[in-house]
Amino acid sequence: MNAPVLVINCGSSSIKYALIDSDPQAARLSGLAERLGSSEARLKGKNSDGESFTQPLPNAGHAEALNAILEHLEGRIPGAVGHRIVHGGEHFTQAALIDENVMAAIHSTAALAPLHNPANLAGISATQRVFPDLPQVAVFDTAFHQTLPPRAYRYALPEVLYTEHGIRRYGFHGTSHAYVSQRAGELSLRGAGGWLTAHLGNGCSTSAIWNNQSLDTSMGLTPLEGLVMGTRSGDVDPGLHAHLHRQLGWSLDEIDNVLNKQSGLLGLSGLTNDMREVEEQASAGHAGAQLALEVFCYRIAKSLAALSCALPTIDGVIFTGGIGENSPIVRRDVLALMPHFGFNIDQTTNEAMVRGKEGNISSTDNGPEVWVIPTDEEGRIAMETRHCVESAQ
Ligand code: ADP
Repeated sequence: MNAPVLVINCGSSSIKYALIDSDPQAARLSGLAERLGSSEARLKGKNSDGESFTQPLPNAGHAEALNAILEHLEGRIPGAVGHRIVHGGEHFTQAALIDENVMAAIHSTAALAPLHNPANLAGISATQRVFPDLPQVAVFDTAFHQTLPPRAYRYALPEVLYTEHGIRRYGFHGTSHAYVSQRAGELSLRGAGGWLTAHLGNGCSTSAIWNNQSLDTSMGLTPLEGLVMGTRSGDVDPGLHAHLHRQLGWSLDEIDNVLNKQSGLLGLSGLTNDMREVEEQASAGHAGAQLALEVFCYRIAKSLAALSCALPTIDGVIFTGGIGENSPIVRRDVLALMPHFGFNIDQTTNEAMVRGKEGNISSTDNGPEVWVIPTDEEGRIAMETRHCVESAQ
């Protein structure tokens, strides 16, 4: 399939899009329709000459926004649409050509991702109406982690909760972990081997990948488990919910809201969920920001060390996501907590590896490598969409 792929990520009031050619050198068209359903709805994007545009779309819904996006594709006709779907449960180990059965399976998984899957489904339906003749493919955040063995995905809970209700660890950010580990396998002389990946953005997760297969990951049933994130707590004592309910009278919804929206860097610093600001305030001496940075890095190091148990050998660690790609401080502080792993980084190279640069920041050829690899979730979704359509032909 030579035609470009239109990658769509539908939220309840937004659509992120990118038009991606099979030729990696070709310019991408990308943008975001936001505040859909409100009088402030608008489409923002970039043309192929790199110029930005903003188009007001008052009261537009998903279908109107898709029609507006179509007008900004500069006459390039997509050959397929790839949808980012958050949760595929145990139904999907890889991307799937969307038909009624696939829609039903995504729907049946909605209880595990109540904020995301219904919005993703609404996006698929709107896209089918606007592009009735194009093949549509679902690419799942969870699919890459379906290779986890039971020892990594089972919680120590009564079996019936797994067999009847799907309570297990699924993992997320699969397209990112898959992309950066595959890329490291291409760039490094070590090949596919054993890689620890740290995707550090607003959401953060780690993964242990052996021979391009995910063997363990830090997120679980939901994207709340694991690392400290922008506003998410990551791991807490499972007894916390009962304690807060009994002692403070908080409802489950209140607890859920605090753990998802008021915790993480924001909760610890008391200032912000944005790592740039945390770093600035920490270096200016703000105690909360210093603590936030310290806990953030310690938890990443602890998670990477724990995940190393999943791998027969460790060829290297990969940093990605907005923080992983741009924060030499976080990379330095995480690795300083793991001296027994033998990671050695060149500080000058580390400091230069920002704003989309890709490279190995290790100081020696001995020991495991340290890579910074800008993630490309949209590119990966386009690639999987292309493969899926081609193999169905
Ligand atoms: P999302 O998960 O929403 O895609 P990103 O991957 O863009 O988010 O990551 C956002 C995070 O990256 C924010 O915490 C932001 O502060 C951080 N970040 C971006 N640039 C820098 C930088 N130069 N230094 C430190 N952190 C940065």
